Amino acid sequence: TVRTRFAPSPTGYLHIGGARTALFSWAYARRHGGQFILRIEDTDVARSTPEAVQAILDGMSWLDLNWDEGPFYQMQRMDRYKAVIQEMLAAGSAYHCYMPPEELDALREAQRARGEKPRYDGRWRPEPGKQLPEPPAGIAPVIRFRNPTDGVVAWDDLVKGRIEIANAEMDDLIIARADGTPTYNFCVCVDDWDMGITQVIRGDDHVNNTPRQINILKALGAVVPQYAHLSMILGDDGQKLSKRHGAVSVTQYDDDGYLPEAVINYLARLGWSHGDDEIFSRAQLVEWFDLDHITPSAAQFNTEKLNWLNAHYIKQSDNAALAADVSRRLAKRGVDPETGPSLEAIIGLYKDRVATLNELADAAEAFYIDLHPAPELVAQHLTDAARAALATLRGKLEVVAWEKAAISAAIKETCAEHGMKMPQVAIPLRVLLLGQTQTPAIDGVVEVMGRGPAGERMGRG
Ligand code: GLU
Repeated sequence: TVRTRFAPSPTGYLHIGGARTALFSWAYARRHGGQFILRIEDTDVARSTPEAVQAILDGMSWLDLNWDEGPFYQMQRMDRYKAVIQEMLAAGSAYHCYMPPEELDALREAQRARGEKPRYDGRWRPEPGKQLPEPPAGIAPVIRFRNPTDGVVAWDDLVKGRIEIANAEMDDLIIARADGTPTYNFCVCVDDWDMGITQVIRGDDHVNNTPRQINILKALGAVVPQYAHLSMILGDDGQKLSKRHGAVSVTQYDDDGYLPEAVINYLARLGWSHGDDEIFSRAQLVEWFDLDHITPSAAQFNTEKLNWLNAHYIKQSDNAALAADVSRRLAKRGVDPETGPSLEAIIGLYKDRVATLNELADAAEAFYIDLHPAPELVAQHLTDAARAALATLRGKLEVVAWEKAAISAAIKETCAEHGMKMPQVAIPLRVLLLGQTQTPAIDGVVEVMGRGPAGERMGRG
């Protein structure tokens, strides 16, 4: 059965690239009825923080990327890594290296000076018939993996196609430091092996680690998983996605008013396609997801497209669900929708017109706050003629049946009585009611605002 994993290093929040990796691993497991495992790669103690772990878990749960096993923490598996290292030493696939760090540095320096790629020269590597020196006193050895010297490491990358690297290109990787702590590439191998991972789906910044990991897995007698290396994501401007591109953490998208469904849909399309489909549900993604249609070239982030998808999902959501979300956003601004017109009704007016939930909150806020239209707008639009017409309309609205058709009729009668065109009344009315010249249809706005509040705001003109 399929077993995939997402293995973030908790050195920061869950960013867009990581979220896409997680999504693809999740979707692949779900597609094949397999398991999705979460593993926290926290061996870089200096840079890993509990806050970052929490931020990653928060991001995963906001996107509803549920895992079946874990989270596992590498720092809690140290004993296991050390035990495997002992087995490798016993089996001869790893060995102690007593080369002092200064000598290694000097060797590398000399190699670089000759224009060679720096590499360990294998001086402590046991070979049949080779006489190793006595281990020097006072030097704690590192442990190195005995990498094969002949042949090639090859794999059929599920995204990039066949990749081959000659073993002669690789030196003997340090798998345990002098203080005994296992190194990153080694821990990943033991984990992927122990966790029975069948497909490793990760960013292509790890392509260079793969041949080393395959050799270690083979030495362990593990079944080597398949690998899928995802291309990186570029920003809107074609540059590598970075903090400069604004919202870097996925939860920032929550703050910015995006729905998780829209972000999931958007991320799924970032480097993967299913025919011409742009909009699909989570269930459809699970039904359709494969690794064959991932583009090997870099994917470019496109904020407009994300906004377009978000607008679509907002339009599709039911008003009550949107109201629950928007009222949380309003509460953060100190605005209490209980004190005014129905938030659901306001959302009904605006949900086809906005790209984000924050825009929806902005629109709603104007109905609840003590609104003071900008003096320039008042000066420009509330002419004497407009004021006279609005006074007439206000009188009509005091007695009219409170429903859209009647309100609309009252506005039309007012226009007729004052010899004005619709916008000559509607625009100043919009300015008084909402402080804006553009709003949804004015009869709907008046209806939703309610007789009392609408009359009161008109009275301020
Ligand atoms: N911890 C690695 C990272 O965050 C991922 C390693 C892997 O997926 O093998 O980049």
